[in-house]
Amino acid sequence: MNRTAPLITLLGVSLGALTLTGCGAGGPTAAGLASPPSSAPGLPTPQMPSTWSPAPATTAGAPAPATAPAASDSPAPASPTGKPLAGRTIVLDPGHNPGNVAHTTEINRQVDIGNGRKECDTTGTATDAGYTEADYSLDVSHRIRDLLKALGATVLLTQDGDHPWGPCITDRAAFGNAAHADAAISVHGDGGPASGSGFHVIMPAKVVAGKADTTAITAPSHRLGLLVRDSFHTVTGEPYADYIGDQGLDTRDDLGGLNLSGIPKVFIECGNMRNAGDAQRMTDPQWRQRAAQGIADAFTAFLTTTG
Ligand code: ZN
Repeated sequence: MNRTAPLITLLGVSLGALTLTGCGAGGPTAAGLASPPSSAPGLPTPQMPSTWSPAPATTAGAPAPATAPAASDSPAPASPTGKPLAGRTIVLDPGHNPGNVAHTTEINRQVDIGNGRKECDTTGTATDAGYTEADYSLDVSHRIRDLLKALGATVLLTQDGDHPWGPCITDRAAFGNAAHADAAISVHGDGGPASGSGFHVIMPAKVVAGKADTTAITAPSHRLGLLVRDSFHTVTGEPYADYIGDQGLDTRDDLGGLNLSGIPKVFIECGNMRNAGDAQRMTDPQWRQRAAQGIADAFTAFLTTTG
């Protein structure tokens, strides 16, 4: 299913001297955008770029192409009792980076997402009070990580406040591929119209173009998306977004983090940080814990059930 250009996420948010750009790197889909030629069909070969190494990297210096970032994190031994996720690997992708605002040149660099070109990364949005999406997404990711590790999972973050900027959306996808993770989620807060509220989950459209081929992940990502939508809604009570998507779900073909993923992956826009009510909730640590619980529950269901 292809949707046309999303209506949100291009709103710039002025925050003092900063300008924060909306998350999801929305805007027109690849139609009409230059699509670089590629002679390499199929999924991209995971490569760690020289400007960025995976968080759990064990070596410094030269990049190690195709080295799974999970290598340093030895798999948990099978422990059926109380550890339903033992042996499973989950990648959490905290959207944006608190340092992006100081590295606009780097993050504005155009990268190849298969069916077009997009900025390497964006700054993300923020509440009126100045709570940034980057801080929100990292905090919630930490909470998800703690919950999933308690269930035995190996949990890897694409960035953990340990990169000066980014990583680029292409590298965020490559990270999960290189880890051969069972599933991934990119955690965001939206920068929609202030009158709109609610959360939504973004699933990958089928994209076969250049470096992108989501054929193998669309179905499992859809299943993951439904589980995240239902669980997040149940645990947080947050309504489905009333300004985008359909019943809390959207499908997009213009997000590099999805286009280039070789593992089941979705995005969640946990709420609209430009909306006063959502902003209030997202600023509350107790609500963020529920948000994390809802997402962690969805991964548990995804990895322990079928169909
Ligand atoms: Zn975002």
